[in-house]
Amino acid sequence: MSKVNLYQVHQVNDYTYIIAEDLDHQVDTMALVIGKKKAALIDTGAGIGNLREVVEELTDLPVMVLTTHLHTDHAGGNPLFDEIYVNERDAFLMPESMGLDFRMRYVRACVTDNPDKLNQIEKGINRVTSFDYQSIDDGDIIDLGGITLRTIAFPGHTPGSLMFYDESSRILFSGDSVNPSPWLFLEYSVPLHEYLDKLRQLKPLLAEAGRIYCGHGVDALEDEVVPDLEECCLEILGGAAGKPTRTVGGDACKYRHGCVTVFYNPEKL
Ligand SMILES: [Zn+2]
Repeated sequence: MSKVNLYQVHQVNDYTYIIAEDLDHQVDTMALVIGKKKAALIDTGAGIGNLREVVEELTDLPVMVLTTHLHTDHAGGNPLFDEIYVNERDAFLMPESMGLDFRMRYVRACVTDNPDKLNQIEKGINRVTSFDYQSIDDGDIIDLGGITLRTIAFPGHTPGSLMFYDESSRILFSGDSVNPSPWLFLEYSVPLHEYLDKLRQLKPLLAEAGRIYCGHGVDALEDEVVPDLEECCLEILGGAAGKPTRTVGGDACKYRHGCVTVFYNPEKL
């Protein structure tokens, strides 16, 4: 049986790569930003294979992991690395998100018709279910030597969600905070109006960013995503009725505007 390649690497510029963890019906994307002294790995996917090896092919420098939020599909590979940063407000998610059963359930929901691949993942998935970390928060500057990343808190999808901004290349890594189908219905997600307030507050930065890479997609977001998100939230808050839907993360309502679909809880507007 030949080994399935679980990761694909896409170069964005001289020092930035997008690494895709390919789960057939879902792609988890991470970013590697390589400075002169250190490299930052933004998110680690669900930890389905040896991501550390993939990263070490791209850089010899010490790697720090910056976690956009503590969900299964963003922090699952964190234990493969030694220096990890997470926002403290997401700490309560550690037991569930890092649990092996929970991560495998996610993988099985995404890889539905590829038994060889599933088998390989079952054998190779990271089995360590917790990790030590240092807390980072809004405004923290990550100095990689010649390249800096600014930490931007965006409580919404999870209370401790973070984004990271590379000012010199005007690239924003937005995790699940800004994407074409944000999940804002989780029991700990903020009410929809708070998400909208934060989105509006961050508009200057979102407009300044030449490219926004979210946590699920190898291409930068289309320009319409941010204005469509604002409009979509406004329409829901103005009384537009979404459609009830069932997701792997639970029941929600979804409402579409332009190129985005917002998943929300109608009881928590
Ligand atoms: Zn998430």
